[in-house]
Amino acid sequence: MSELANESSAQRFESVFSGTAEGTWVAPGRVNLIGEHTDYNDGFVLPFAIPQRTEVAAARLPEHSWEAWSALNGETVRFTEDDLTPGGVPGWGAYVASVVWALRERGYDAPGARLAITSDVPLGAGLSSSASLESAVLGALVDLGRLDVPVEERPAIAQLGENKYVGMPSGILDQSASIRCREGHALFLDCRSLAVEHIPFDLASAGLAILVINSNAPHQLVDGEYAARRASCEAAAAALGVPALRDVSLDGLDDALARLDDDVLRRRTRHIVTENDRVLRTVELLRAGDVRGIGPLMTASHASMRDDFEITVEQVDLAVSAALEAGAFGARMTGGGFGGCVLALVETSAADEVRSAVEKAYAARAFTPPATFVATAAPGAHRL
Ligand code: ADP
Ligand code: MG
Repeated sequence: MSELANESSAQRFESVFSGTAEGTWVAPGRVNLIGEHTDYNDGFVLPFAIPQRTEVAAARLPEHSWEAWSALNGETVRFTEDDLTPGGVPGWGAYVASVVWALRERGYDAPGARLAITSDVPLGAGLSSSASLESAVLGALVDLGRLDVPVEERPAIAQLGENKYVGMPSGILDQSASIRCREGHALFLDCRSLAVEHIPFDLASAGLAILVINSNAPHQLVDGEYAARRASCEAAAAALGVPALRDVSLDGLDDALARLDDDVLRRRTRHIVTENDRVLRTVELLRAGDVRGIGPLMTASHASMRDDFEITVEQVDLAVSAALEAGAFGARMTGGGFGGCVLALVETSAADEVRSAVEKAYAARAFTPPATFVATAAPGAHRL
C-alpha cells in the first residue's frame, strides 16, 4: 500500500509542480487508547498511530518561499517569509506555514520548499489529521534542510505552531503520537517530562481488535468547550496550590475534592485524577500481556468523560453502549470530545457483530450512519 501511495503523492508532485520530488515523508493519524484531557494537565496519555496517514512529497526551493498543494481541495497555497507571523497564512495553509514559523522560532532555518500533500486521515473526526499534516511537513523540512532537530524536540515544535500560529490551544498528545509512535506499540507519554515508553500492544495475537467508530456527530462548540475545560483545570490546580492536576494523587483525591467549593471544578478534577490512574493501570496490564483486561478501564474512562468531564454527546454515548451490549470488552470515546470517534475493544471475530449493532442503534435514532474501521498500531512519522 505504501509504495502505491508513495508513487501517487510523488506523481501528484510532478503534475502540480512540473518537477521531481526529492522524497516523500509520511505521518499518521492517531487514536488515544486512554488518557483524555490529561495532556494539558501534565498527566499521562497512551495513544497509538493508525494506518491512515498524511503523505508529503517535497523538494527544496533555493529561496525562502513555500508552495503547498493539497489533494484534499486541489488548492495551492504560497507564502514567503513576510507571511510568517501568526495569521499571515489563512485556512488550511496555516497548518503548513505554522511548521515553518515554529522551526524558525526555535532557531532552525527552515528551507524553502514545494510540498504536495495527500492524506487519508478523516478531517475533524478526532483522528488528528492536523497533527499528521504538521508532522509530515516537519519531517520533510527537517530532512530537506538537513536540520539537526532531535526527534524528542519535534512534537513540541509542531505543537508550538498549532498553538501560536494556527491558534488552536491543543496539548502535546497529537504531535507526540504522530511523530513518536511505533508499529505494534502504544506510546506511554508523560506529558510533564515528555518521557516516552513504547508499550507492546499486540492485539492480533490476543485475538482482539480495536474497532474505531466515527460517530459522525457534527462538531459543535468544540473550541469554546475545550478552552473552558482547560480553564477549569487550571482554576482547580490553582485553588489546590499545585502546578497542575497531575500533582493530585488518587490517594489525595478525597482531600482535594473537599477543598474545592465548586461542584464543576470538583468533577473536572475527579476526571483528571482518576483518568491518570487509569492510564497507569492500563500500561501495567499491557506490560503483563493482559490486553483484554483493559476493557473495564476503557469503559470507566468513558463514564468519567460523560459524567464528570461532560465532553461526550448522544451519538458517542450511544456507540459506546451499543458496542458494550453487543459484547465489546470495553468502549470509550477517544479525542477531545463533542463528537469524534469511539474505540471498542472486541474479539476479532465479533467485530462485524459489534459494528452492525452500533449501526442498528444509530438507525433507530435516525443518526447519520457511523463510519467504522479496525485499527492496528501503525508506525510513526518517517521518510519513505
Ligand atoms: P483533526 O485534527 O481532529 O482532524 P482539526 O480541526 O484539528 O481536526 O484539523 C483539521 C484541519 O486540518 C482541516 O480543517 C484542515 O485545515 C487541516 N488539514 C488536515 N489535513 C489536511 C490535508 N490533507 N490538506 C489540507 N488541510 C488539511
Ligand atoms: Mg487536530
